Amino acid sequence: TQTLHIIGGGMAGSEAAWQAAGAGISVVLHEMRPQTGTFAHRTGNLAEMVCSNSFRSDDDESNAVGLLHWEMRQAGGLLMEMADLHSLPAGGALAVDRDAFSAGVTERLKAHPLIEIRAGEIAALPTDGPVIVATGPLTSGTLAEDIARHTGQEALAFFDAIAPIVYADSINMDVAWRQSRYDKGETEEERRAYINCPMTKDEYEAFIDALLAADVTEFHEGETAGYFDGCLPIEVMAARGRETLRFGPMKPIGLTNTHKPDEKAYAVVQLRRDNALGTLYNIVGFQTKMRYGAQNEVLRMIPGLGEARFARLGGIHRNTFLNSPTLLDSQMRMRSAPHLRFAGQITGVEGYVESAAMGLLAGRLAAAELAGRTLPEVPHVTAMGALLSHITGGAEAKTFQPMNVNFGLFPPIDAKGGRKGRRERYKAYTDRAKAAWADWLETTAPVTAPA
Ligand code: FAD
Repeated sequence: TQTLHIIGGGMAGSEAAWQAAGAGISVVLHEMRPQTGTFAHRTGNLAEMVCSNSFRSDDDESNAVGLLHWEMRQAGGLLMEMADLHSLPAGGALAVDRDAFSAGVTERLKAHPLIEIRAGEIAALPTDGPVIVATGPLTSGTLAEDIARHTGQEALAFFDAIAPIVYADSINMDVAWRQSRYDKGETEEERRAYINCPMTKDEYEAFIDALLAADVTEFHEGETAGYFDGCLPIEVMAARGRETLRFGPMKPIGLTNTHKPDEKAYAVVQLRRDNALGTLYNIVGFQTKMRYGAQNEVLRMIPGLGEARFARLGGIHRNTFLNSPTLLDSQMRMRSAPHLRFAGQITGVEGYVESAAMGLLAGRLAAAELAGRTLPEVPHVTAMGALLSHITGGAEAKTFQPMNVNFGLFPPIDAKGGRKGRRERYKAYTDRAKAAWADWLETTAPVTAPA
């Protein structure tokens, strides 16, 4: 039988190896550390947590990350098992003892009779498969160059520049209005593609003051090598001159406030649709290094966003990731080279949990394929499926940036019998997801019993 090669023993690669081996497939897991390091990893252990020691919320009834935990536990996920085993008290969050966690993952994978762990860097994409590439945000330079050769330079990013993403239903449309600049567009939908938030001179000046005073995070040492000038953080633009933003992403030209047609806005913040469902909007050009607390305060100063809820806040990091909506099929295979699957943060998800989740799916999909089966699509109503369908099709390819799991990615639930409270609505999402995930796991259970 064929062997599955997995490149990268991080969050995604470790879980993929566990899942595939559990389905009876022989796996070789290639990991370059400790021989070749990255600026963030410190050890040679598999599944090393490079920064915080948190798997975030463990609430599986009203939180999308907690739901992802639940789905992984149901699928026998090794990373969740180790996280639970080495958890630390942290309120509603799942914090773990990072060293015990990654040592535990390493030990279990090493002990598995179907898994061989092979040390060393893989410098090029293999020409034969099956392979899962799970080399993460800090994919080694030589491999990244080879991936770029296959995908084209513009389809592989080396930094993310994430503008904050807002839930559409939390924008105050009594203040904001829909319009594309200069009413550009062939269809009515295109002419109304953006949501605009107007500012008076006083509001603009106060906003600039807040930006200049905001707390920011610093780049890690070595992180900015080759840093480009094309996507400066808004607070850096503001520091270059108080008018810079008004002549950049906040320019007011070509827009007429439908609520106050006679008043010329001094500046306008634009939001652009971020997913096919139309539930999420990103703030155009607002990539930022402001700390999360500061973002929550400063961004709510924008008229129309006073009550905004954020699906994710902004950031700029060193991050190698593919333009998955154009490159990957719904089975996580590269369309132009289907012997290659991608998993983890390199596919444009963000975070330990999301990366492990995509590894879990890739491992199962690859194992099924090797057993001569094609698994049915992962239901979009599950956290797994919502994330997967976002990166492989639902997200806007042109502006694709890494995504955390959140309820904005799920097909909306009809609020039967009037407006439901948020908690109740999220409970309906998680109930629906759990039933669909249990079903999918049952119908796709590996034919071979786990070793
Ligand atoms: P990784 O876990 O990075 O695993 C990839 C593995 O591939 C690594 O072990 C690497 O050594 C190996 N590798 C790379 N290239 C090769 C090669 N050519 N050959 C062989 N092996 C290779 N997420 C959070 O949830 N919370 C945080 O606080 C957080 N902080 C972060 C801070 C930094 C500085 C960075 C860079 C990322 C942070 N992340 C955080 C994101 C988090 O690291 C990822 O979401 C997660 O680790 C991604 O999992 P992965 O398996 O895709 O990649």
